[in-house]
Amino acid sequence: MAHSNHTRPPLGKVSYTRAVLVTLVTVVIAQVMTAAAIVICDIPQYILDEIIGIWFALAAILPLVVTFPLAIVFQRERLKVEQAMVELKKAHAALAERARLDPLTNLLDRKAFYNDLETALAGGSSLLVIDVDHFKSINDTYGHQAGDDALRLIASTIEATTRDTDIVGRLGGEEFGVFLSGADLEKACNIAEQIRVTICDLEFAPTPTTRHQLTVSIGVAMRKEGQTPTDLFRIADHRMYEAKRRGRNCVHASSGPESTSA
Ligand code: GH3
Ligand code: MG
Ligand code: MG
Repeated sequence: MAHSNHTRPPLGKVSYTRAVLVTLVTVVIAQVMTAAAIVICDIPQYILDEIIGIWFALAAILPLVVTFPLAIVFQRERLKVEQAMVELKKAHAALAERARLDPLTNLLDRKAFYNDLETALAGGSSLLVIDVDHFKSINDTYGHQAGDDALRLIASTIEATTRDTDIVGRLGGEEFGVFLSGADLEKACNIAEQIRVTICDLEFAPTPTTRHQLTVSIGVAMRKEGQTPTDLFRIADHRMYEAKRRGRNCVHASSGPESTSA
């Protein structure tokens, strides 16, 4: 059922500067036209002396009185049309969304559910396993509290770099997992690389006078048909260790001998 208490988006603002400019242009045009009329009509000088002041005054006042309010009115009307267009688009989007819902439960109906599922599966789903490099040295050098701070900073960075639809978890110790639904291997690698670079650029200061560069190694695996979450995790984990072997602070996604089933 339609609700009538929807809030209207606020109108944009009327530009008084624009109205003044339009008015000034009209005044100038009126003045020029008055001068041209006087020249063309060849009015006798004695009549001209009588009326020229009034003519030019009228050619200034009339546009001021008429054009300025009209410019404001036209702008208001244009803004109303723009507002109506925005509301129309919103209503259209709301209708399209409502058409996807089961009226009894307000959940996605069967068709929409399958559509969304197909979209997610067609795009693939990928898992990132992220392990902080040489994390033990942070604990050993600056203490366990600094290690905890680093973990919190890395966790919030991963969360901020991923989308709301992604699932982010701490798998244990200094290891994190990110499940990217609808992300194929290429997209997952891009996100992994973005996470790696963002963490690398963090300003982590374990003491007021020291800055410690944090880095992570990331393994990426895309889910293939028939693979269980455990399979996916095993492959991503192997790739994370491969990233470690390759020097750390990198993303590894290609199939090694241990993950040929990926
Ligand atoms: P690598 O680059 O090979 O991953 O080296 P690493 O030092 O990160 O890995 P290692 O497995 O040797 O050490 C992980 C350390 O993480 C050991 C453990 O004490 C520490 N750790 C695990 N959980 C926590 C935690 O909750 N807080 C803190 N501060 N340290 C933790
Ligand atoms: Mg580590
Ligand atoms: Mg580890």
